[in-house]
Amino acid sequence: EKLLEINNLHVNTEDKEILKGVNLTVNKGEVHVIMGSNGAGKSTLAQVILGHPKYQVTEGDMIFQGESLKELKTDERARKGIFLSFQTPEEVPGVTVEGFLRSARSAALGRPVMLHSFRKELKEKLELLDISDEYASRYLNVGFSGGEKKKNEIIQMMMLNPKLAILDETDSGLDVDAVKIVSEGVKQFKNEENAVIIITHNSKILQSLEPDYVHILLDGQIVRTSDASLIEEVNQKGFAEYKEAVIHA
Ligand code: ADP
Ligand code: MG
Ligand code: MG
Repeated sequence: EKLLEINNLHVNTEDKEILKGVNLTVNKGEVHVIMGSNGAGKSTLAQVILGHPKYQVTEGDMIFQGESLKELKTDERARKGIFLSFQTPEEVPGVTVEGFLRSARSAALGRPVMLHSFRKELKEKLELLDISDEYASRYLNVGFSGGEKKKNEIIQMMMLNPKLAILDETDSGLDVDAVKIVSEGVKQFKNEENAVIIITHNSKILQSLEPDYVHILLDGQIVRTSDASLIEEVNQKGFAEYKEAVIHA
């Protein structure tokens, strides 16, 4: 069953065309990986699916569960079940991980959440991810390692339980701990009713994930789609040879 369909998507930012005709279909139950060189437009694609106002769609469309996303604001898209992980880089003294997660859920639902049931559920998720309870009462990002920030993103995904989770893994901050958390978190999260798009260079994450599809995004276009074997191919050959597939307008 189709969850997201991106058709001929062209996107500008500050009058510069960044995405140049992206096509992508994501069905329920699938894990997709998007790889590509730095500056190819991967983060732009993630941001535009969520409706970041910095980007303008000039052509094409994004259909989520049969409905165009183009006219919807970011919070409306989130309420329809789209999640984009983002690292909250600032230290927030006075706001605990639990408090942050609770307001994130409340924002996504558009109503307050009950403390007791929320806490119970959070405890269960933390156990699944093998994270100690103490983590939830720490102040957000204060003294956090890369891995601890990553935990927050993954727990956020699990607590919001979106239909489509997009994880944009910038290469920085991906230590061994963080890699383990991402791959374990995706395994726990994934089911036949949802889908995950992982954007990353890090093949260690990918090795333990067994994605259904791997896409190479170069110069604002998806130039190759294949199964998980493409990861190894990219590791060996790099992106250079795929550049020939870029269509120049
Ligand atoms: P990736 O995530 O694949 O590394 P990005 O989506 O971050 O790539 O960036 C794609 C391209 O868009 C890059 O060439 C970058 O320089 C450009 N870009 C991103 N944001 C802006 C902006 N605000 N103004 C102009 N160009 C931008
Ligand atoms: Mg980049
Ligand atoms: Mg990026």
